Amino acid sequence: MTVQSNIYPTKALQEMDAAHHLHPFSDMKALNQEGSRIITSATGVWLTDSDGNRIMDGMAGLWCVQVGHGRTEIADAVHKQMVELSYYNTFFKTTHPPAIELSRKLAELAPPHINRVFYCSSGSEANDTVFRMVRYYWDQMGKPDKKVIISRWNGYHGSTLAGTSLGGMKAMHAQGDLPVPGVHHINQPYWFGEGGDMSPDEFGLHAARELEKAIDEIGENKVAAFIAEPIQGAGGVIIPPDTYWPEVQRILKERDILFVADEVICGFGRLGRWFGSDYYGIEPDLMPIAKGLTSGYLPMGGVLVSDRVAEGVVGKGGDFNHGYTYSGHPACAAAALANLAIIEREGLVERVANDIGPYLKERWLKLADHPLVGEARMTGLVGALELVPDKADRHKRFKDVGVPGLLCRDISFENGLVMRAVRDSMIISPPLVLSHEEADFLVATAEKTLNDTYRILKRDGWM
Ligand code: PMP
Repeated sequence: MTVQSNIYPTKALQEMDAAHHLHPFSDMKALNQEGSRIITSATGVWLTDSDGNRIMDGMAGLWCVQVGHGRTEIADAVHKQMVELSYYNTFFKTTHPPAIELSRKLAELAPPHINRVFYCSSGSEANDTVFRMVRYYWDQMGKPDKKVIISRWNGYHGSTLAGTSLGGMKAMHAQGDLPVPGVHHINQPYWFGEGGDMSPDEFGLHAARELEKAIDEIGENKVAAFIAEPIQGAGGVIIPPDTYWPEVQRILKERDILFVADEVICGFGRLGRWFGSDYYGIEPDLMPIAKGLTSGYLPMGGVLVSDRVAEGVVGKGGDFNHGYTYSGHPACAAAALANLAIIEREGLVERVANDIGPYLKERWLKLADHPLVGEARMTGLVGALELVPDKADRHKRFKDVGVPGLLCRDISFENGLVMRAVRDSMIISPPLVLSHEEADFLVATAEKTLNDTYRILKRDGWM
């Protein structure tokens, strides 16, 4: 049976969904009572739902649809590849042209010291690969005691066992007794939330030096790696102060520890450079990637591997006993190649740096004048608005953290714009093809949403 939205009315689809479909990160009891919104088609930055509403996709799906929806060029490349070779593995001394071509392309786009890639199907699998690869590397280098991976509270690295453990989401840790042993969390460089009375620059140094302290306490001889997102996405678009990354890089350069930059969100143009690491001038040893690699047209992830790590996992010989049935899947690789070709041909990375990025940022930052907004921030095409009960007091938060954010998110959807709520921050990460007119719509709708939310919060005594 084919479930077609033009045959079934919305209500019938919602009932089928409620009866049979468990959604990720959802309270299914509450959602089933309310009914899911059903997205039926999309073009460019616009979604259409089963009631015919048109909604701007201000999140590029889940931070992934760099080139916009409905690119037939990618669909055609996948179709061609599926007809030619729909699947073959890369385990037993075999490979295929799409995996080879994509690997060469990624080596060309990555920083010069990174020339290899290990494939998987998602960002979570990429970080599971990281977890195993850094330990394998140190074994290969004759330092098997180097096992601990340092990461950050409120970081996000996926929802598998390793991804959840590396991430610093306490609500995720609480389900299933995580993290697994061998992961140590330090505080995040979140000035607006945790900077106290320090200036952003002072706080950036302070947060970076937590890493130094942690390494020195655990012992450099026991620490394998430090993992972090250049900008924390799912944690609430935490843009670190300017002093943070140079200090982290100094600390890691002085110590024999691998640096893993999780590029799952920041990669492929989001910050106006190919990778977030390029934007911040940092030099990671490993870069997990996913999302923008295929613009979400097919699931694919990977770990970009530096020459230094390759010396251990390639140069020393021996099997790395790790891999997935779909590592380097030919159709996914074809989707990635077609997607990267569009990003290059249309100059989307440069567009974020020099055109739509600054255009949107200028207008987005003006929303900081709104009485509900404590801070507006944006880098490249990723931004946040911090909703606060008292604009004059940066340290004050709503009494039930998260409730105003969810209210604002629902109002935004009704107004025709997808924004995501993280605690009481409103997040955007639109496709890189966003036009100036669409950016104007985005900001005008965000402003209307703030006004609508403010009115309800005032009426109900939240502020
Ligand atoms: N790392 C980061 C930085 C992410 O933002 C995400 C997903 N939001 C992941 C890893 C996990 O990716 P996936 O959902 O594809 O497993």
